Amino acid sequence: MIPPLLTQQLKQRATELMPDMIQWRRHLHQHPEISYKEFETTKWLTTRLEEMGFEVHHPTETGCVAVIRGKAPQSRVVALRADIDALAMEETGVAKADFRSKNPGAAHCCGHDAHTANLLGCARMLSDLRDQLEGTVVLVFQPGEEKLPGGGRLISESGILHTLGVQAIYGLHTSPAHAPGQIGVIKGPMMARPDEFALDLIGKGGHAAAPHLAIDPIVMAAQFVSAVQTVRSRSINPLEPVVVTVGKINGGTAHNVIPEKVSMLGTIRSFSRETSNFIAQRIEAIAAGIAQGAGGSYSFKYDEGYPAVINTDWATDVIVDVAETLHGPDTALWMPEPVMGGEDFAFYLEHFPGAFFLLGTGSAKADSLWSWHHPRYNIDEDAFVTGASMMAGIALHAGATGGNHG
Ligand SMILES: [Zn+2]
Ligand SMILES: [Zn+2]
Repeated sequence: MIPPLLTQQLKQRATELMPDMIQWRRHLHQHPEISYKEFETTKWLTTRLEEMGFEVHHPTETGCVAVIRGKAPQSRVVALRADIDALAMEETGVAKADFRSKNPGAAHCCGHDAHTANLLGCARMLSDLRDQLEGTVVLVFQPGEEKLPGGGRLISESGILHTLGVQAIYGLHTSPAHAPGQIGVIKGPMMARPDEFALDLIGKGGHAAAPHLAIDPIVMAAQFVSAVQTVRSRSINPLEPVVVTVGKINGGTAHNVIPEKVSMLGTIRSFSRETSNFIAQRIEAIAAGIAQGAGGSYSFKYDEGYPAVINTDWATDVIVDVAETLHGPDTALWMPEPVMGGEDFAFYLEHFPGAFFLLGTGSAKADSLWSWHHPRYNIDEDAFVTGASMMAGIALHAGATGGNHG
């Protein structure tokens, strides 16, 4: 539980900090940096966090880990995480006209600007409430969520969270499917493994008018894209959540040339490594069969991505308790099923108990109902009241490390 006096203070402080969080978010939004290139963002964050009295560590080239210690620093050590990277894309959308990205080829279209501003708001609240803080709070501003190997993996492998004695970790993601003031929660599997494959189908180039003298990789690719759909439909238990998508296909240069090869990139989504490895084998077997049948060849590469996000039951209960205590019984909505998107928060959950939740940021008024990674992706900034108070509330919750659920 959170003491009643603190409950009131958290809600009030989050409301007071709204203008700051909005300003921070818009600053970050205008100055997005793609995965592992978050140099300016890291400098900017380090300055803000040091001003607030945090001890700031830099275990990775970009990103940072900030620490604040309460009265009994070892009594409980809770980590809260935000990812800070932007996507390599261009954005659109009139709702963001006043603070559109100034960096060509980079845009915050996954809400990580909001995650960062929100956790910074939480940092300010914890620093204001320092004399009421029992244990230690570790704020993880991680780089590179959008790109392998995953900043979550790099921070985990740096060992800093173990060195700081972290006992549990929590994180959130903006959600266009939930309204501001709502959060989405689920126990156990929450987000899928996003594994990747790259396939080249290799034929023999030639004149488009003499296909019998060439080996056409475009025809091979057409067969492959159709046939690969059978992996999900014919090789996997229909009750098991799995997606296979070819997301990029590239071949040919002119209407009258048969190219040498067609290159494809795709993703495999599942909830277990065994399933994903099996799917990769099936994909390669299909590619091999098609290449052989056509008299061509292939090259196939499969890369394991992030693990699945599997929430700890009691940590999900803590999130729900904080949501209900701070914002009432209708705040936390149980997600009917996991989502097939991936999240490198999964790496932390391989080392520590904890949970991830969705923060409602979708509304018509903010034009923020677009899906993650859409060029018009936006958030309703009203969500910060819930987001920042939730994160601070989790840090102050007596059961946040699993010891005392009271
Ligand atoms: Zn994303
Ligand atoms: Zn994201």
